[in-house]
Amino acid sequence: MKDLWDRASDSLRDRVGSNNHTAWIAPLELTSIDAGEASIATPTRFISDWVQRHYAEAIREALSQAGSPVSRLKFSVTAARKPSSSIAARRKTERPAEAQRGAEHEISAPLDSRFTFENFVVGKPNELAHAAARRVAEGGPVTFNPLFLYGGVGLGKTHLMHAIASEIRSRRPESRVLYLSAEQFMYRFVQALRERTIMDFKEMFRNVEVLMVDDVQFIAGKESTQEEFFHTFNALVDQGKQIVISADRAPGEIKGMEDRIKSRLQCGLVVDLHPTDYELRLGILQSKADAFRAQYSGLQIAPGVLEFLAHRITSNVRVLEGALQRLFAFASLVGREIDMELTQDCLTDILRASDRKLSIEDIQRKVAEHYNIKLSDLVGQKRVRTIARPRQVAMYLAKQMTTRSLPEIGRRFGGRDHTTIMHGVRKIEELCGEDHGLAEDVQLLRRALEA
Ligand code: ADP
Ligand code: MG
Repeated sequence: MKDLWDRASDSLRDRVGSNNHTAWIAPLELTSIDAGEASIATPTRFISDWVQRHYAEAIREALSQAGSPVSRLKFSVTAARKPSSSIAARRKTERPAEAQRGAEHEISAPLDSRFTFENFVVGKPNELAHAAARRVAEGGPVTFNPLFLYGGVGLGKTHLMHAIASEIRSRRPESRVLYLSAEQFMYRFVQALRERTIMDFKEMFRNVEVLMVDDVQFIAGKESTQEEFFHTFNALVDQGKQIVISADRAPGEIKGMEDRIKSRLQCGLVVDLHPTDYELRLGILQSKADAFRAQYSGLQIAPGVLEFLAHRITSNVRVLEGALQRLFAFASLVGREIDMELTQDCLTDILRASDRKLSIEDIQRKVAEHYNIKLSDLVGQKRVRTIARPRQVAMYLAKQMTTRSLPEIGRRFGGRDHTTIMHGVRKIEELCGEDHGLAEDVQLLRRALEA
């Protein structure tokens, strides 16, 4: 058997080239020939699929030439195989458990079991993203491709991506879902180039049903990775496969990303996760507190603590979670109830960091810049609409985004009365409901200030 295979394998090298030979033929082993059927062992299902599709005819011919005509090939996957000289094969045989579950598991990043839809608290800022994610996870005809989720750090992008992947895997275990970060994508790509397994790489990505790439902004400015990503993307979209992408900003705003990629990314559904509001933060805290209470049985939280945290820690959900985690750990250590005093003691640094927040001046400067007016006009007395409206926007943002009181805000706006500030705030609230352009301006400014 061995001699026969060696001869066949040699002639295959001439026929397929030495790179392909190393990647696909060398890992194979001819185990028997029986009644015109050759049994061939391969280290992974992926290699087996690939070889059947691309080299079956060549192998049959090579075996015939080597003196043993066969009419059929039978492939079997033997997970535990002695290491072969092929790099590709060696890499795969080291991970036999994964190989059995299908090729995409070899590169799919592990999913965090806590990041499920059940654990995702839905509020106004994230309801659209959540609904879109659910829809994709339910499957059915691909409605928007790609789904592009974006938003600031710690707002739940990765959580939603994992939730989609887990949900699809549990609903349809046979479907191939590949989730990985853009950084991992690049790493795999560079590795494949180095190890000359680029065909393997391409095939792996083009054979999935759902491709999910997290933090795609990472590949901005990385030309050849972008190029490969673009081709993979197009190939999958053409086949009607679902793609889900996340980034820290909108497609059009990713610097160093090629225009054709940006426009491809935009052609599905683009949804953003807005910064959390008070209600959402409180909801998340309550849900996490329930989980912690179960974990640290018996620990109590005094009324008002969660509200205090939701009010004070506005940066992102990760920080919020970390604060709660620390409170529970600390309280259980000292055997005390989680009350305001313990909270203040235990979270001094986090609370101080969130104090070092936006100043009214920051807001004024940003707003003046946005509307292209002078800062002195913004806080001055001119009443023309083109200045008065931006002034009210700045008042509104100062009220919303800082903890300053109305009289304090009034002082920073050229010594205005607090009732003037209140009027300005109300006016903008009102207008945002009817004037789409204004609402968008406010939203943009808010995001820029939060960054
Ligand atoms: P991103 O990827 O947007 O930076 P993550 O998805 O990693 O953010 O979220 C950060 C943390 O906050 C995670 O632990 C996640 O579970 C949690 N989180 C974010 N949004 C929510 C939410 N709406 N409900 C529950 N947990 C959330
Ligand atoms: Mg993330």
